[in-house]
Amino acid sequence: MSSVIRGIGMTSLRTRERMLARLREQGIRDEVTLSAMGSIARHIFVDEALSSRAYEDVSLPIGFGQTISQPYIVARMTEILRAGKPLGNVLEIGTGCGYQTAVLSKVAKEVYSVERIRPLLMKARGHLRELRMSNIKLKHADGTMGLPEMAPFDGIIVTAAASHVPQELLEQLAVGGRMVIPVGTEEQILYLIEHVATTNGSEYRQTKLEPVKFVPLLGGTN
Ligand code: SAH
Repeated sequence: MSSVIRGIGMTSLRTRERMLARLREQGIRDEVTLSAMGSIARHIFVDEALSSRAYEDVSLPIGFGQTISQPYIVARMTEILRAGKPLGNVLEIGTGCGYQTAVLSKVAKEVYSVERIRPLLMKARGHLRELRMSNIKLKHADGTMGLPEMAPFDGIIVTAAASHVPQELLEQLAVGGRMVIPVGTEEQILYLIEHVATTNGSEYRQTKLEPVKFVPLLGGTN
């Protein structure tokens, strides 16, 4: 039993190192993001039948028609959100299996993550409990409304594609805060939205980043 467990551990450590090397080749530069991803066993977030593929640069099914994001996109979104600085309170919309949530928990003070499909949230809770992460709060809710009771957030990360940027999320972004969000239906583009202080208040600045492919952000809960 223990040698089997150790065997899996060794493999995942080596494959994780390969994953980090590939992320560097793909242009990920933020060492804090890379070391967070190097310290989290990605295979525990996917079904056992798929665990041998967990470190490939692909998205994989997690049930209920949803997917775990490919390592590159998790790294890229985390790197953009961090912008080289430690994060305070972060809100994630779309917990899925909880992998991105786990990565965020290593680079932020508190992570709030909202998922609309209850059984997926239960799965994520199980995975995150296994990793004993204490700075994560999960909630079953429609993330298009944000999480007003915990706002404002220094970072907001949306891991499903929105048709437009929800007004509620803009309102819950702290001044100085950053949001990464994929926008679009057929063609999706990843955007960075910064809430910056100005002499007479604050404004939102939008930067187009790169084409992406996410499952859609849907309203309501399941
Ligand atoms: N963050 C995940 C990605 C999961 S896929 C990862 O690390 O791989 C996107 C998730 O967003 C799905 O689980 C989907 O159910 C969820 N989702 C879609 N619309 C939502 C909404 N309005 N509120 C909360 N979650 C939503």
